[in-house]
Amino acid sequence: MTQKKGEICALCGRPSGEVGYYIAGLRGGICSDCLREAVNIFGKDLNINGTDTAAMSARKPEGSKAAKAKGKTRDWQAVPKPTEIKAFLDRYVVGQDEAKRTLAVAVYNHYKRISRPAEAADVEIEKSNICMVGSTGTGKTLMARTIARLLDVPFTIVDATVFTEAGYVGEDVESILSRLLQVADYDLEAAQQGIVFIDEIDKIARKADNPSITRDVSGEGVQQGLLKLLEGTIVNVPPKGGRKHPDQDYIHVDTRNILFICGGAFDGVENRIAQRLNTHTVGYDAVERRSRVDREHLIEHVQPQDLKSFGLIPELIGRIPMVTFLRPLDRAALRAILTEPHNAITRQQQQLMAMDGIALTFDDDALDYIVDRALRYELGARGLRSIVETLMVQPQFELPASGATEFRVTLDYVRDHLPTDDRL
Ligand code: ADP
Repeated sequence: MTQKKGEICALCGRPSGEVGYYIAGLRGGICSDCLREAVNIFGKDLNINGTDTAAMSARKPEGSKAAKAKGKTRDWQAVPKPTEIKAFLDRYVVGQDEAKRTLAVAVYNHYKRISRPAEAADVEIEKSNICMVGSTGTGKTLMARTIARLLDVPFTIVDATVFTEAGYVGEDVESILSRLLQVADYDLEAAQQGIVFIDEIDKIARKADNPSITRDVSGEGVQQGLLKLLEGTIVNVPPKGGRKHPDQDYIHVDTRNILFICGGAFDGVENRIAQRLNTHTVGYDAVERRSRVDREHLIEHVQPQDLKSFGLIPELIGRIPMVTFLRPLDRAALRAILTEPHNAITRQQQQLMAMDGIALTFDDDALDYIVDRALRYELGARGLRSIVETLMVQPQFELPASGATEFRVTLDYVRDHLPTDDRL
């Protein structure tokens, strides 16, 4: 398919020349792949694909967005099934199948729980908060963000490191709820069924050597606060996220149905797992190789109790019963991340250049070299982005005004434009 300048899909960002069909609109277009995806996800709601209308209307008398936002009348049968949620994640996140499955099931169950008819209320379905354990740059936040795209419940991402115990400079734990209310447009009922991703949960560990006897600014006090939220409680949230003030009218937020997904690197958790499994992590000669292999796979055995030694209080761990893991990204995964996901780093750069009418290409050996560098940096896929962006500074500076129509990133170009690294 030929491409007109500037024609890119508003959803996936690919140029029209790279997609099957491109439907142009007044303010942008959409490609056939994204349209197909949309039909897969929402087709049943919209009665596309020849779905049985009578059955649909019996199942879902209230199809409107307003009804969904109000939560109570939500129909979980209309939400994507776990396999569909995973398929959606697959488009953006490379590998990490176990975490994808766990997340898909948890989110699906979350919908079921909040959509239960009132008459089924005698059996209370407890929520299962999740913790994703994996080193930096392996896709924890990406996974959470991608899920958020798919959902129609309010969703927010917070960083646990900003929280301090109430009264100290920094944010109170309750501010999580102000953010959730904000993204829910202050629809209380919708916010009460939302999903919160708490990043860097491992960084709020209790610090044993804290000099203050009564207050532990970044440790246990914060965890106690979080614990309350996770367990389910009514929290008084000042409207519009302002500081608390005696005569302010609070919004009473019930956190019982809010799903919490936590993420953390938990550096060194493998040692704990090894201890628990009584595995030798160091060895000599022949044993050494085997133990290294085992070590790479240790993360797959992570259990809630392994997180205890990171200073998370047991009550908090108890409230996050599902623990899943993300693997460190190997060479093949990093290579795939560069080019394959819908919004892959190289595609993003190609799109930026395409807006100036420049066709950007990367040689295979140049991409391999970039991956080698990223492996050295040990920053997971984060390293890839910084390398590619470093490489693109010069062409992005010079080419737009030069009239160039193409730019090829070769191995020599990459070698010349990255800081020297003696190890390569
Ligand atoms: P973290 O695990 O530290 O939360 P992020 O999800 O923020 O890592 O990842 C950083 C960046 O690296 C993302 O924006 C994404 O571009 C890329 N990335 C990381 N892991 C993956 C993955 N599994 N698949 C695709 N891209 C990834």
